[in-house]
Amino acid sequence: MRASPCEYNLVSPGNLHDVAALLAAEPGRWTPIAGGTDLMVLYASGKLAARNLISIWNLPELRGVEITANEVRIGAACTYSDLQKQEIVRSEFAMLARAASWTGGVANQNRGTLGGNIANASPAADSLPALLAYDATLELYSARGVRQVPYSEFHRGYKKHALAPDELIRTICLPKNTKGMISYCRKVGARNAQAISKVCIAGLARVTNGMIEEVRIGVGSVAPIPMRLRKTEQALLGRQVSLELIEKARRTVAEQIQPIDDIRSTAEYRGAVAANLVAEFVRTLCSEAGQR
Ligand SMILES: Cc1cc2nc3c(=O)[nH]c(=O)nc-3n(C[C@H](O)[C@H](O)[C@H](O)COP(=O)(O)OP(=O)(O)OC[C@H]3O[C@@H](n4cnc5c(N)ncnc54)[C@H](O)[C@@H]3O)c2cc1C
Repeated sequence: MRASPCEYNLVSPGNLHDVAALLAAEPGRWTPIAGGTDLMVLYASGKLAARNLISIWNLPELRGVEITANEVRIGAACTYSDLQKQEIVRSEFAMLARAASWTGGVANQNRGTLGGNIANASPAADSLPALLAYDATLELYSARGVRQVPYSEFHRGYKKHALAPDELIRTICLPKNTKGMISYCRKVGARNAQAISKVCIAGLARVTNGMIEEVRIGVGSVAPIPMRLRKTEQALLGRQVSLELIEKARRTVAEQIQPIDDIRSTAEYRGAVAANLVAEFVRTLCSEAGQR
């Protein structure tokens, strides 16, 4: 049943400092709302337990993309449309731009934010495997100051994460070290648009003279949290790309993931697809390395 607006407070301080001050004064009382594309679904179905919302939509401090010598710093309230318009994201972090393009429809991309996708912490969220593969770091902001958390350590369990009640995700930092790396990403869903992933993957590798020198693989929808396939990475690291390696990598997948049956898919299907996607990633490395 639809909720009544009378049951909710919404405040909009308009700058990051004042938002942080209110979160610090009454920790746990206020829930940040950015684009609202996750929270408003809960609201519309009468399931939004948080009654006091503090808007961080359009805060200038959270909306920009800054390029430094070593990293690209994305404001947490950048929308999927913002990300797709950024040349640096399209060229150097193409898997993030792709994930942005297949998140919901255009209306959702104009409103949904990268920070919201991270904090909402769905294991099926589309941008998160790319952030794992790009080895992102998050800057968390509160009135107490700023702290950095490697994104791979942010999720602590299903819908649990490292944010304290008075903290916001301020910036997503992507190291600029992807030049020359081969990337591969796929979303497998019921259809191309407006579908939550059954499995999604983002893989990144540096291959020199046929040898895999560096590799990171992020996957979603196969465990309670988006995860790195570390055992697969270990099996690939330092090895020559080959057809045998494809099968070896495929076999490592089942022992790391914990897929479930739900309304969108089955554990069996998700396990088979995840293994196939890893195999396709390594096949891509074989073919691209052969052309270099
Ligand atoms: C029709 C539709 C289709 C969708 N399709 C997809 C899809 O294909 N793939 C996909 O991954 N997702 C999809 N989503 C989910 C949603 O759009 C994304 O998760 C989006 O990125 C959420 O961002 P938001 O700004 O709207 O978050 P909000 O709804 O504003 O917030 C979500 C959560 O994050 C918290 N939060 C937001 N920003 C911050 C911050 N900076 N710091 C700390 N906490 C914060 C909020 O308190 C809240 O708990 C879809 C949603 C809809 C309605």
